[in-house]
Amino acid sequence: MAASPKLPAFDPADPLGVDDLLEPEDLAVRDTVRDWAADRVLPHIADWYEKGELPGIRELARELGSIGALGMSLDGYGCAGASAVQYGLACLELEAADSGIRSLVSVQGSLAMYAIHRFGSEEQKQTWLPRMAAGEVIGCFGLTEPDHGSDPANMRTRAKRDGGGDWVLDGRKMWITNGSVAGVAVVWAQTEEGIRGFVVPTDSPGFSAPEIKHKWSLRASVTSELVLDDVRLPADAVLPEATGLRGPLSCLTHARYGIVWGSMGAARSSFEAAVEYAKSREQFGRPIGGFQLTQAKLADMAVELHKGILLAHHLGRRMDAGRLRPEQVSFGKLNNVREAIDICRTARTILGANGISLEYPVMRHATNLESVLTYEGTVEMHQLVLGKALTGLDAFR
Ligand SMILES: Cc1cc2nc3c(=O)[nH]c(=O)nc-3n(C[C@H](O)[C@H](O)[C@H](O)COP(=O)(O)OP(=O)(O)OC[C@H]3O[C@@H](n4cnc5c(N)ncnc54)[C@H](O)[C@@H]3O)c2cc1C
Repeated sequence: MAASPKLPAFDPADPLGVDDLLEPEDLAVRDTVRDWAADRVLPHIADWYEKGELPGIRELARELGSIGALGMSLDGYGCAGASAVQYGLACLELEAADSGIRSLVSVQGSLAMYAIHRFGSEEQKQTWLPRMAAGEVIGCFGLTEPDHGSDPANMRTRAKRDGGGDWVLDGRKMWITNGSVAGVAVVWAQTEEGIRGFVVPTDSPGFSAPEIKHKWSLRASVTSELVLDDVRLPADAVLPEATGLRGPLSCLTHARYGIVWGSMGAARSSFEAAVEYAKSREQFGRPIGGFQLTQAKLADMAVELHKGILLAHHLGRRMDAGRLRPEQVSFGKLNNVREAIDICRTARTILGANGISLEYPVMRHATNLESVLTYEGTVEMHQLVLGKALTGLDAFR
């Protein structure tokens, strides 16, 4: 009988051998981002979270720019031109540190920069993208309003042309990541031609961005209101290639794709904390990881974590091949964020009382994921997207 080939050892960090799908340059991107987060975020994040702030955000943005993490999968204009899989790996590593850091990068790259890159004029691209890629200018993306979240089609923010062709914007946006630290805002507004996007320098008279405080989730992230009070912009401030909701929705698809990966980072961090704790914490004279009930939890967490990572890889490969549909991104976001939050909550139970402490990452990740569950399309919106795709029936209204 032929000798069976030698099997690779079981790797608890990669039980399905998913890393075999990665090229050396993918691993290099992952290591760079992981090392950056270990050095610049992990030592401080509990403190930032407790204080509800992200101090040094401008410096962090410049550092993220220097490692190529901003607008990472975009081409030209100082962007890294990385693959979708590499961008996903970066999101996972950033969110393993904290969802707030991943949100900074997602909003910068997948929302603000992506909107300008995909729908902007050459002049808009030249003006903003190189500085945004370098982290010298932070961007935000204003779609949600106080009274219109899941149904942005009914937004109230208006842009009207004055007699000379300039635009005048009036309205309010709500829950805008990076808002009060942004140098440029991509703002979506109703016009006579339907919804259009505008590139708004945040020093424009009439623009202000008060920060939203008292958040109990994404505490190490800047979230703001945008107030547009007769903000006057030149005729060429409009994104020429975006008309209707298709514009903002395609940006959201790109950002949601990053969340499919990122959420697994938060889950991985919580899972690892639970495994370490289970091996060292003793009750009834033995490590709690030796009890069958704890092992069942860990096994179930590992199954969902690595299924989710595999799903993220699959979608990443489809995106790189130009074959990723928005419904597939909805599938990924729905599953991975829901499972990530479940993994964090189960990890919390394994850590017992310590699970509620900021000494460990699990409660921080779990509360962060409450926002991730809602932003970029709520769970229910993604269920409705899939429901419509499965039945052909639109149940949104
Ligand atoms: C920390 C944070 C950061 C954010 N950053 C940004 C940002 O940078 N830019 C931006 O534009 N927005 C941002 N958002 C806003 C986010 O995208 C919205 O909160 C989200 O789209 C949901 O809108 P809403 O909160 O108004 O909830 P609603 O739309 O009011 O929904 C409330 C509930 O009703 C459900 N619901 C609504 N309609 C239906 C329906 N037809 N059928 C079934 N259920 C329904 C929803 O699923 C949800 O459960 C952020 C939010 C948070 C929390």
